[in-house]
Amino acid sequence: MSRLLFLFAVIVAVYWLLKTYRKQSPKQDAPATSSEDMVRCAQCGVHLPKSEAIQSSGNLFCSEAHRREYESR
Ligand SMILES: [Zn+2]
Repeated sequence: MSRLLFLFAVIVAVYWLLKTYRKQSPKQDAPATSSEDMVRCAQCGVHLPKSEAIQSSGNLFCSEAHRREYESR
């Protein structure tokens, strides 16, 4: 009888873990993608995700060409 109870407890624990894991994982992913900062190219003013921007001496650029243009001014 105690074995059955133990087995039942294990099943409940696994079920609960799966449930909380499934509930938490989309929540953890959502802010990571939606909170990505949008930055502005210092040369042309286009908006782009920060991860795609080229950073140089405190300024952000949409492309390597614009970084060079900006710094040659
Ligand atoms: Zn640009």
